[in-house]
Amino acid sequence: MDFNLRACGRHGHETYAPDEPELRARLQVQTPAGPAWRCLRCADYVVGDPKGQGPADLAPEVPRGRLLRDRRIMRLLAVERAVRGIGLLGIAFLVFRFRSSRGSLQQKFDTDLPLLRPLAAQLGWNVDDSAIVRTIDDAFSLSATVLIWIAIGLIGYALLQFTEATGLWLMKRWGEYVAAVATAIFLPLEIYELAEKVTVLRVGAFAVNLAAVAWLLWSKRLFGLRGGSAAYHAEHQAESLLTVERAAAAAS
Ligand SMILES: [Zn+2]
Repeated sequence: MDFNLRACGRHGHETYAPDEPELRARLQVQTPAGPAWRCLRCADYVVGDPKGQGPADLAPEVPRGRLLRDRRIMRLLAVERAVRGIGLLGIAFLVFRFRSSRGSLQQKFDTDLPLLRPLAAQLGWNVDDSAIVRTIDDAFSLSATVLIWIAIGLIGYALLQFTEATGLWLMKRWGEYVAAVATAIFLPLEIYELAEKVTVLRVGAFAVNLAAVAWLLWSKRLFGLRGGSAAYHAEHQAESLLTVERAAAAAS
């Protein structure tokens, strides 16, 4: 109940006047200050006009049970997507920085590397055979235009992540579709990466994304699965009706 009160404090009470006379009568009381309606979330009576009205199965849902759990998973996925988007923007920024200060960096790299060689040899590390050094060398050999395109690609990917995050956070049906499709598109790339080299991070990312796609398709009944959008809306209407009936039962 505390959780409900907090939600009401933040979003306002969810009062609703159902069209069904019997339910309507049980959700309303007369007070000296005028009629009051029972909040669907916290069950308090609130004086004044109801926030909404219409058939009980179109009432706002006060999520509980499975739908509440679903909502938590979607919010978790949304946060994960947003964090990934911020990380991608950070990398894009570094690519831009690298592009503009490449000349001085390369000079430093070229003068420092020979100095490093004897020390590295002492440690038994062959600098010229090192993957890190080769990666840095490769980066220096990329043209400025290629670097711009890499940065633009990263920003585009980041924007996609933010779009997914927004849709999932707001529980929009389009958000569920965008998240499922956008995540699925990159699965082949992740498989390719795994085929190249298996690391804990790659396996983890692949597992999370595969589970997310499967869960979204199944739970959200995307692309006609499990009755598709008709069943999806029926489930939510049943939940709305249940919300109103629960509040009415609490009132009697
Ligand atoms: Zn309330």
